[in-house]
Amino acid sequence: MGDNVIPLADLRYAAALPRIPTSGFEAGGLLADRLGRPLRDLRISVTDRCNFRCSYCMPKDVFDSDYKFLPQTSLLSFEEITRTARLFVAHGVTKLRLTGGEPLLRKHVEVLISQLAALRADDGTPGGRPLDITLTTNGSLLERKAQALRDAGLKRVTVSLDALDDAIFRRMNDVDFPVADVLRGIDAALAAGLAPIKINMVVKRGTNDHEIVPLARHVRERYGAGVVLRFIEYMDVGATNGWRMDEVLPSAQVVQRLHEAFPLQALEASAPGETAQRWGYRDGGGEIGVISSVTQAFCGDCNRARLSTEGKLFLCLFASRGHDLRSLLRGAKPDGSPYTDDEIARAIGLIWSEREDRYSQLRSAQPTGTGTGGDSGERRVEMHYIGG
Ligand code: SAM
Ligand code: SF4
Ligand code: SF4
Repeated sequence: MGDNVIPLADLRYAAALPRIPTSGFEAGGLLADRLGRPLRDLRISVTDRCNFRCSYCMPKDVFDSDYKFLPQTSLLSFEEITRTARLFVAHGVTKLRLTGGEPLLRKHVEVLISQLAALRADDGTPGGRPLDITLTTNGSLLERKAQALRDAGLKRVTVSLDALDDAIFRRMNDVDFPVADVLRGIDAALAAGLAPIKINMVVKRGTNDHEIVPLARHVRERYGAGVVLRFIEYMDVGATNGWRMDEVLPSAQVVQRLHEAFPLQALEASAPGETAQRWGYRDGGGEIGVISSVTQAFCGDCNRARLSTEGKLFLCLFASRGHDLRSLLRGAKPDGSPYTDDEIARAIGLIWSEREDRYSQLRSAQPTGTGTGGDSGERRVEMHYIGG
């Protein structure tokens, strides 16, 4: 490691223990946080490991061979994840996203998917409604795994792809991984019926912004409306990526560049809490999305919770501390008996009801527009650990 050694491991264990209310919270039932936001979307990080070293997420000089990833025993088991997800569903969650690290590195992840696919949201219909289950991947193992994921009950997939040009792609993943393998993964996912596919491109000004139009052209020509390409503003997540505002290309400029190549028109948002603003090609060639986390904060209807690899509940991508649900899943009460589903669900209810996180909104309210809005001053957790 270089000079910027950061005791990341310490941070992972800094968690507030959840309280279990004795009254006032039902084990199920819809929730609202302090800003009136419901809980709808649970993102589950199934591993903190990754085979890429994207500089904006896991820079190589920090995440090197000395870096201590979580030991296997710390990870939530598939049964623990499924139990926790079921309690979140009882509180109104309808959408689950598996992420990481690289989720396809977690052994037998398709077994977890089949367990999650059996869960139902109570929408008043007999048997309830299946959940919207998806997964975000770097695509490196997708060609091999797409069919098994589909067979297990995965509905759709989001693939990260930061450049079409092989040299730029290899530089961005920083492990010399070829873009052709990811493109084959996307084809395999489409062939397996994992649709609609979304492709996410993180745009870093001066690094890959000249790939915006070529990638859009490729997606239009090869897939048409079957694949939605989304451009994400480079964010100041974690504490290791050396983020600078001048490397952020505002989404408005992304849209402008695309519009000059392929005229666009604004589309309606597809659902409340949707992170992307949608734009359609005027010639009917499909749509794109922009996720303006830096220049246009969308905290106002943020309905997302994040479950870290070892079972801590985070209420914001930029949080410093999580709530240790694993201690409830594995621990015992003073009388030696395990915590019940009702007790854990009530703890989740209390945690959500006290939420007031809105980091991006506070950041953009700062005069400089940079730095650490809404932060407690503590170091933020890394994205590969709580999931994107
Ligand atoms: N490894 C998987 C992948 O890359 O798709 C899943 C985990 S990754 C943390 C989830 C998403 O977060 C990816 O689309 C990635 O591009 C995005 N991401 C990571 N660091 C980011 C940053 N600093 N700014 C914006 N997006 C980021
Ligand atoms: Fe790995 Fe995804 Fe982070 Fe890249 S963005 S280092 S692929 S977890
Ligand atoms: Fe949600 Fe936090 Fe992102 Fe705001 S900054 S949209 S509260 S995750």
